Amino acid sequence: MCALWYNTLTMTKAWSILPDEWKPILKERGLRPFRADQILQSLYRDYIDDWDSATTLPKDFRETLKTEFPLTNAKILDTSRSEDGTTKLLVGFDDGNSVETVLIPATGRFTQCISTQVGCAMGCAFCASGSRGVVRSLTADEIVAQYLLARKFGEITNIVVMGMGEPFANYDETMRALKLINAGKGPNLGARHITISTCGIVPGFERLAAEGIQFELSVSLHAPNDALRSELMPVNRRWPIDELLQACADYTRKTKRIITFEYTVIKGVNDSRANAEELARQVKRVPMAKVNLIPLSPVSHRPDFKTPDEKTLLMFLDVLMKNKIQTMLRRSRGKDANAACGQLRLRNLP
Ligand code: SAH
Repeated sequence: MCALWYNTLTMTKAWSILPDEWKPILKERGLRPFRADQILQSLYRDYIDDWDSATTLPKDFRETLKTEFPLTNAKILDTSRSEDGTTKLLVGFDDGNSVETVLIPATGRFTQCISTQVGCAMGCAFCASGSRGVVRSLTADEIVAQYLLARKFGEITNIVVMGMGEPFANYDETMRALKLINAGKGPNLGARHITISTCGIVPGFERLAAEGIQFELSVSLHAPNDALRSELMPVNRRWPIDELLQACADYTRKTKRIITFEYTVIKGVNDSRANAEELARQVKRVPMAKVNLIPLSPVSHRPDFKTPDEKTLLMFLDVLMKNKIQTMLRRSRGKDANAACGQLRLRNLP
């Protein structure tokens, strides 16, 4: 009883501690602060996944680390590889919950799509992750663990926070994980190579701007007006388009950073010429904005939502370009591995 109480008070997962925090934490626990550099070396140069492998540290100290700063137990439960080289990993944690992370190779790039929650509470109509609600948020170390597991498949050059969950609904843990992955004495992945994607939780924008870190920001817009957006994305009822775009404009002014609007194109729902014209008008309200068009990946819970044909996509793209909106037409990857946008998780649920 007593030991348990002691442990829960002092135990901190090693992969949730930022490199600069190690020294003060060791000191506070009566441990030798000079060990911090050796610890960091073991964690983020040797990439150990077991304290016993940290052979530069004395054995008794390794035992202390095991009890006070355990490494997160995260296991790859399943791997599926799609024909285009996209690999999806199912990552399981001690409490039986699991999330998916997707590895996407491209010329000169190896991008990882990372999850921040088990499920999602946002309930976007076209998204599989949200169709069963949220189970719980991930802790920072669980987010970091996804990255560390993925590293075994190759050097990750980019991270997109576009897996399961809404990062701004799990702001603190997500930010801690990304700061750790970005830290010079940590994995040292450049901030500009890390993209956070939000469905539009407005208070998150100001908080992110105040961090002063150059993470990239994407905003899932998907509709150019409140009537349609509220239908597709319940979050719009709380933070409608005017408020959202105001927060985006403030963010770009404050940070001088571009915002990318994600627009999933759904056949007959948000793909008309009028929708494109209205989208162009809205996006213009935000200085330094661009648009990514993503053809919908079909999801089993909404058989009525279909992918638009090529002609419609090109028309939509053309309208935005003629309005001088910087636009990219994205191609979905990993379809045959159920790893495409919005397809995560469902396949693994009973
Ligand atoms: N909650 C965050 C990040 C997760 S979703 C967000 O909303 O941005 C990552 C991206 O995938 C979002 O732009 C989301 O709208 C998109 N997406 C979800 N389901 C999709 C589907 N079925 N087809 C295409 N894109 C989808």
